[in-house]
Amino acid sequence: MTPQLITPPRRALADLGEVIGAERLRILRAAADDLRRRLNGRTVWQINSTATGGGVAEMLQVLMGYLADAELPTQWLVVGGEGEFFEITKRLHNRMHGASSGPPLTEADAAAYARTTAVNAAAVAELAKPGDLVVLHDPQTAGMAPLLASRGITVIWRCHIGADRRTPVGDEAWEFLRPHLLSASAYVFSLAHYRPDFLPEERTVVIPPSIDPIAPKNAELDPGTVEAVLRACGVIAGGPDGPARFLRRDGRPGEVTHTAKVLADELPALDEPMLVQISRWDRLKDMAGVLTAFAERIAPGGPGCLVLAGPQVDEVGDDPEGAQVYAECQAVWQALPRQSRRRAVLASLPMEDLDENAVMVNALQRHSVVIAQKSLAEGFGLTVAEAMWKRRPVVGSAVGGILDQLADGRGVLVEPADAAGFAGAVRRLIDDPAEASRMGIAAHEFVHREYLGDRHLLRWAELIGRFL
Ligand code: UDP
Repeated sequence: MTPQLITPPRRALADLGEVIGAERLRILRAAADDLRRRLNGRTVWQINSTATGGGVAEMLQVLMGYLADAELPTQWLVVGGEGEFFEITKRLHNRMHGASSGPPLTEADAAAYARTTAVNAAAVAELAKPGDLVVLHDPQTAGMAPLLASRGITVIWRCHIGADRRTPVGDEAWEFLRPHLLSASAYVFSLAHYRPDFLPEERTVVIPPSIDPIAPKNAELDPGTVEAVLRACGVIAGGPDGPARFLRRDGRPGEVTHTAKVLADELPALDEPMLVQISRWDRLKDMAGVLTAFAERIAPGGPGCLVLAGPQVDEVGDDPEGAQVYAECQAVWQALPRQSRRRAVLASLPMEDLDENAVMVNALQRHSVVIAQKSLAEGFGLTVAEAMWKRRPVVGSAVGGILDQLADGRGVLVEPADAAGFAGAVRRLIDDPAEASRMGIAAHEFVHREYLGDRHLLRWAELIGRFL
């Protein structure tokens, strides 16, 4: 279980400057120079439990690239664990979102959790030195805080999860984590109300995540490239008709060579209006709910097809439920009446090559006419920001970070249990391109202002500066 050092490709701040403009770039560079001076040889470590799959890894892949370009002394370590450990942390994760899953957390679970996190903390303490700062991400790493703090390392816990309401299962998870968390110096949440009462407010900071506008996930793609990528990965009818080329994060050319694992009776035609939801195969994303709403309420009302896309299930190491949830969606799909089933596709996107996976997500989002994020709970919802950046109209659940993102007409918010409201909103947007376009433009402007990397890095620089 040796921690693994991850070194994502360097990303040029100057390229980000092309999107954010000279003034925002100047402010960012000045903050980076100031922070480098004040760090004075100390290192900032980011610690999480997977290098790929899910929002945290997605963000670290990008931000670490910019930090390298800014020549800030930062490192990213991925810590491991056995199946039992990730089974416990998945139960914690679900409970912190207010969803019950699996049996209650026991003393034995607490002991197993503490054992693994202590081993991980000891390994990290061999690498980090007193005075360094460690940012621990999510419940998988929270247990490392006491040992690291005892070695003179400043610990910041970054929690990407949260629930809008207190629940008994949520309280159970927070009680489980409480003894581990109190030794951290600061806590970072995506929304203010995710902080449990026992963590001091004055040591808590709200930092929403960000997306990278020039990464393969979000970079501009011309319609020809969108079509070529969709053909190459096998999610639209007709098969490939030439190479699907794109630019990798490190600036080298890439080409789509893997195909998605697709469950479909028929593949959609290129000109069929497409509704897309992209998520990990996680029950809280309610992929099955999208499928049912599409088949029962959206498909009968007019044209359109649905693509539900997620990572290939054996590929996301810290998410043991993925295969199970995918199988559940598969069963729901199989049980659909043939008429609507032939318009719905489940696509598992290959994860061997992250840039290739990202450009597939990008092409799907850009090709769609409406994007759904029908989550039952959502810490922030990067997929929503990604869709908004692409000027797509989003129909999202009125939960967690989706609320802030889609407020004020930047998208449509629907209660997660309101299948009719969800379906009605999707249908209206498929049928009203002018409204879809207006919404998409407002969405893009908001993401440009609030959720790009410079805003994110400045918020972190301010927090880290407090400890120097
Ligand atoms: N994602 C991806 N490939 C996939 C499915 C998801 O790259 O096959 C990405 C997605 O684009 C987003 C992230 O995984 O950047 C998911 O983050 P989000 O905050 O939406 O949800 P989380 O998975 O963290 O709960």
